[in-house]
Formats: sequence, structure tokens, C-alpha cells
Amino acid sequence: MKLSDPLQPGEVALVGAGPGAAELLTVAAARLIGDCDVIVHDALVSREVLALADARAARIFAGKRGGRPSASQADICETLVRLAKSGKRVVRLKGGDPFVFGRGGEEIRALAAAGIRFRVIPGITAGVAAPAMAGIPVTDRTVNASIAFLTGHEASPGSRIDWRALVAAFPVLVIYMGTKNLAVIAGRLIDAGMRPDTPVAILHDVTGAHERQVFGTLSEARTGAIAGASPAIVVIGDVVAKRRSWRDTDS
Ligand code: SAH
Repeated sequence: MKLSDPLQPGEVALVGAGPGAAELLTVAAARLIGDCDVIVHDALVSREVLALADARAARIFAGKRGGRPSASQADICETLVRLAKSGKRVVRLKGGDPFVFGRGGEEIRALAAAGIRFRVIPGITAGVAAPAMAGIPVTDRTVNASIAFLTGHEASPGSRIDWRALVAAFPVLVIYMGTKNLAVIAGRLIDAGMRPDTPVAILHDVTGAHERQVFGTLSEARTGAIAGASPAIVVIGDVVAKRRSWRDTDS
């Protein structure tokens, strides 16, 4: 089977939509989006990507943002199962990669439990796309031999993150959902031994209409002198200083 083979009736494809620009879709994603009966998508999936959908395909919004009553994960899983059982060819479209902070795992387990045929199309995750589009080499031979991808939701007191271990092990951190708690996160990182002058990039709405980049240091992030709004990827580490901007829209 090829990833881009047409879906069978009753089959679900969990598809990564990448960071926003339609050009950054995989060939398989573009083909399946353009040939399906129904698309169940998140808030982060861009209009440009949705515009590639088959005009006859139904669209179901299953987002969790924007103040509207949000679909629970159980509801989303149930919807996917119901649509597949009614013989639809379903594309479950998620921003970035479906398995990176995207709860795609829960969805494939629900599909598998219901005996539904499914496939997974990886996407370019925002944590990789954002630094690349900003000209930041997310690994650089002179800086880091590892990277940590983490969620900023874990800055709360019940955090599962061991900040000292994190700082000791990873010279470069790429944070998803990190803007709201950025000052707290920066404080924890400094307390855990990271240099206050470590460079920070806040990369907002990468490849989208509201794209914006903010640069500064970890101590500026701690005081709130630099900040950003969701959706943004925060890159922390000396790789940020290795940046060479390459897009004509860049500052
Ligand atoms: N599955 C997605 C991540 C979902 S979590 C992926 O692999 O990219 C949602 C977070 O992803 C956002 O809070 C933000 O941190 C990041 N994100 C997604 N799209 C983005 C974009 N276009 N620009 C910047 N950050 C983005």
C-alpha cells in the first residue's frame, strides 16, 4: 500500500497538515485531502490547506480553541468511529504532525478498538518547521548533540518536568504551547542553571498570515520584556544566535 492510495470507504487517515503553508504538506496529505468524503479538522489547520479539500467533502470542526464549546477528545474519537462505520472516507486533519502533542495516539487506539482501518500520514511538526523558516539551525555541530521538545503546559506546580535534568541534558529546548507560561518557564530554567543571556526566539504563526518573530534572552523572557501569543514555538539555546534569516519577509 502507498500512503497516497485512495481511501477505502470506512477508512480513516490521520493526516499531518504541517505548520500552515499548503506547500509544506506531504504529497500523500495533499492527495488525501483532495479526495475524501469528510474532513475532521483542528483549529490549527490553515485555510490554505482546507482550500485543497474536495469541494464535495463535508467539513467538521473539532477544535479546542477560540472560546467556543470545545469538542472533547472522547467526542472526536466517537465522531471518527461513527463516520467510518457509515462508510465515509475520512481524513482526520491535525496541525503539524498528528502524534506530536496532538493526541493522535488516542484516536488511533479508538479506531483500532472499533476495528476500523486507518493509516497515519506524518506531517512537518511546528517545532521543526518554525526554526527552519526563521533560519535557525535547530541542531548545529558547534552547539548541540541533542534537542528537547516539550510542552509549556508543564510549567505548572504539578509539572512532570525535572528542570535541572532538562537543562543538564539538553542545550536546546523547543517549546510548544509555551507563550502563556513563558516567564515562569524562563525563571525555572535560570534557577536550574541555564545562562540568563541564553538567546530565545518566539516564532508566532509560522507560515501563516500573522507570522511574527521576537528575539531576546532568557532573562528578558523571565521579566516579560519579550513575549508572544499562541500559536508560537519558543526556541531556547545558542542555536538561535546561529540564525541567518533567508526570507524577504524577515526582520
Ligand atoms: N501537532 C502539532 C502541535 C500541536 S500543539 C505539531 O506537530 O506542530 C499546538 C502548538 O503547536 C501551538 O501552541 C504552538 O506551540 C505550535 N504550533 C502549531 N502550529 C504553529 C505555527 N504555525 N506557528 C507556531 N507554532 C505553531
